[in-house]
This record gives sequence, C-alpha cells and structure tokens, in this order.
Amino acid sequence: MVRPKKSLGQHFLKDQSIAKQIVDALQIDGKQVVEIGPGTGVLTQYLLKRDLDLKVVEIDRDSVAYLKIHFPKLRDNLIEGDVLRMDWNAFSEKPFHVIGNFPYNISSQIFFKVLEHRDKVDQVVGMLQKEVAERIASDKGNKVYGIMSVLLQAYYDIELLFKVPPDVFFPPPKVMSAVIRLKRNNTGRLDCDEEKFKAIVKQGFQNRRKTLRNALKRLNLPPSISSMKLLDLRAEQLSVADFVFLTQQIEKSDA
Ligand code: SAH
Repeated sequence: MVRPKKSLGQHFLKDQSIAKQIVDALQIDGKQVVEIGPGTGVLTQYLLKRDLDLKVVEIDRDSVAYLKIHFPKLRDNLIEGDVLRMDWNAFSEKPFHVIGNFPYNISSQIFFKVLEHRDKVDQVVGMLQKEVAERIASDKGNKVYGIMSVLLQAYYDIELLFKVPPDVFFPPPKVMSAVIRLKRNNTGRLDCDEEKFKAIVKQGFQNRRKTLRNALKRLNLPPSISSMKLLDLRAEQLSVADFVFLTQQIEKSDA
C-alpha cells in the first residue's frame, strides 16, 4: 500500500462500485483519455478494461512505483510529474478527455487548464470537493454562481452527476465530494472579444453585491452604454448569453 500524503491531496477511493461509476460516466467518441492523479489505480483498472488510448499523470513517486508494478500495461503512458506544469498539447494531437479523482487542493487550477485547452479537451469527468463542483455546475441566480461557472459554461455543458460521502476514501477528506461531467458544447469562439468577456466576468463578480454599473466602474465603460438595463443587475443574475451581449455592446460603443 502507498501511504497517503496530505500535501498531495491524496484521498484514495476505497469503494470499487463508485470507481466504476466514475469511469462509466465518461461517454466518449474518441479514444484519447488522460487520467489525472491515478494514485494506486482504482479508476485506472476500469479505464484499462475499456478500449482507450490512456495516459495517466501522477506526481507522487510512490504511487508511480506502485502503478509500474501493478499495471505494467501502462508502460510509456505513465507520465510522472505535475499536471499543472505540463504541456497539455503534448498529451495528444487529437482532442482528448480528462478523468480523475482530482487532488482537491488544485482542482480549480485543473479547470483553468481545461479552459485554456478548451479546443482540445472534449469531455471531463472529475471528482472534487462538493462545493467546487456545485459552483462550476450552478445556474445564474444561485449564490454560488461565479467566475468559474460562467467561464466554463460558456464552452461546456455541465452536469453534477452524484455526491460521494467522506467514508469511502482513505483517509476520509473533511468535505463531501461530488462527481461532475463537462461536455464541450458547440461554441467554437464566443460571439464577442473573449478577453474582454473574461475581464468583464471577473470584474463583475469581484464585487458581486454591487450592480454591474458600479462593479464595472474600473473598466471605464463608455458613457453611451450606461443606460443599459443589464447594468442594473448584479453579475450573478446574468447568464453566459447576457455577458456575451454586454461585451458586444461595450465593444460597439468602444469602436
Ligand atoms: N485516483 C486515486 C487517487 C486520488 S487522490 C483514487 O481515486 O484513489 C489524488 C491523486 O492526485 C494522488 O494520487 C496525488 O498524488 C495526485 N496528484 C496530486 N497533485 C498532483 C499534480 N499536481 N499532478 C499530478 N498528480 C497529482
């Protein structure tokens, strides 16, 4: 057995049926799959039973040694290192899918990586802290709806699949967990300047209790749009489409 290390967010899943459910949640066309943080391979064993081109990325030496012994089939597809410091384009030339019982301390950073590689990452099935999963999957109007929800939902259809209690892990985490699935939607590029969109979303939620008119002051919005009704709302009341529309209006009056 590998002794779990807290600093690496290691909580090994003990429950085989949950492991299988997570792997079964990946509904894919292509075969390229990257597993983040295989640990001792509880998900990996089921992934290897499917007809997939699987790569696994693990930072922990002890886990890597364990995987080499127990899953000789992985061979060159076992990548040792920090997934946040890797070039995700090198995982595959074709689009690929991401799966994992993610290290909870870096799960938000993993999703920012996904966003950065949205043209390559087709589907994500991940287990993470329940609160983070809820934030990512939540709809407008919800108090946990935020930057991550809007940015990810702009490009992905997101479902919270099921919740998982602490006692199925070793050691048990202090929080509840949840499994979510993200599927790339049909939006190639947003219908507006994507950098500006991101800036507006971020600034809007930075002062989430203020109306957008006040929250966005720092962005020096053109005076011509100040009568827009959307600006009377707070960021959490806007859908992705509303943010796109707002960005378009700002662009138009900037021109
Ligand atoms: N999939 C296993 C382990 C989950 S715990 C299971 O379900 O039992 C999270 C795993 O991510 C651990 O194995 C940990 O070593 C690994 N990990 C943590 N930080 C990482 C990083 N930056 N890059 C790659 N793997 C990481």
